Amino acid sequence: MRQRMLNSRLYIFVVTACVIVCMALQYGCSSSELPDFNSDIAFGFLIDQCEIGPRNPGSRGHKIVQRYLVSKLEEFGANLSVQPFDGVLTTGDTLKLVNIIGNFNMGSKKRILLGAHYDTRPFADRDPDPTNRDTPIIGANDGASGVAVLLEIARKLGKSKPPVGVDIVFFDGEDYGREGVPEDYILGSSYFASNAKGYRPYAVIIVDMVGEKDVEIKKEGYSRAISNNLLEEIYSIARRLNLSEFKDEEGVSLLDDHLPFIKMGIPAVDLIDFEYPYWHTLEDTPDKCSKESLGAVGTVLLEFIWQQ
Ligand SMILES: [Zn+2]
Repeated sequence: MRQRMLNSRLYIFVVTACVIVCMALQYGCSSSELPDFNSDIAFGFLIDQCEIGPRNPGSRGHKIVQRYLVSKLEEFGANLSVQPFDGVLTTGDTLKLVNIIGNFNMGSKKRILLGAHYDTRPFADRDPDPTNRDTPIIGANDGASGVAVLLEIARKLGKSKPPVGVDIVFFDGEDYGREGVPEDYILGSSYFASNAKGYRPYAVIIVDMVGEKDVEIKKEGYSRAISNNLLEEIYSIARRLNLSEFKDEEGVSLLDDHLPFIKMGIPAVDLIDFEYPYWHTLEDTPDKCSKESLGAVGTVLLEFIWQQ
């Protein structure tokens, strides 16, 4: 009788242990395997944004792209939040702006921020034709490309739990300023950083203008000077994967969404190919971009996340 009781207790113990192990596997106590970046799908996200039209603050497209980004992040299972704020320009004008945020692996205290601006420039002030210079741009590369890479990463993170927390932030109001008025640029990332309170990611990676055909991402100046360890970690992944899109060369220093985080003392880098002949012109259209460029950047970012 006693032996039978022991046997039945052992049986209950084994069954309970099996149930716990199965639940742990199913609900993901540990992270998943490194997913593949799908560059076709990413390029589709670039096209979606361009089909909306110009997406500068105050435009119809600006509202539509906000709804698009919110619905995509929801679809991918992100913990979604929006951060509306007033962007006050040096002219005294106020822009209604919104940062859009999707968090993955909320349980992890160790966090990475991946950011891209989703607003497009309200005027093609670099267009060779002076009559075009007050017309808003489509921003296939300058706007849509970085967002497209991060949307595909978000899609993957929704299916495969990353080993660290990942916060994807779509910044507004990056590209509104007139040349020579730096205060009117990077409004979204500046607002986000100055309202971060206790939030401190250990790495910030910004992607901007990464969709150009035959993209060449040189080492942006502030990233190189201030966040070199992080930059080297990213470039060493590209070297290991033989991704020649990442050039081991010095690039220019740029006013971009990484700067507010550098000012907070957080390692932050800007992945960008600034040598783009269609920059701030009406010719910044999807035919100048390629899925291979998005694929190289997205692949390196997923590798980076999974090697943490
Ligand atoms: Zn721009």
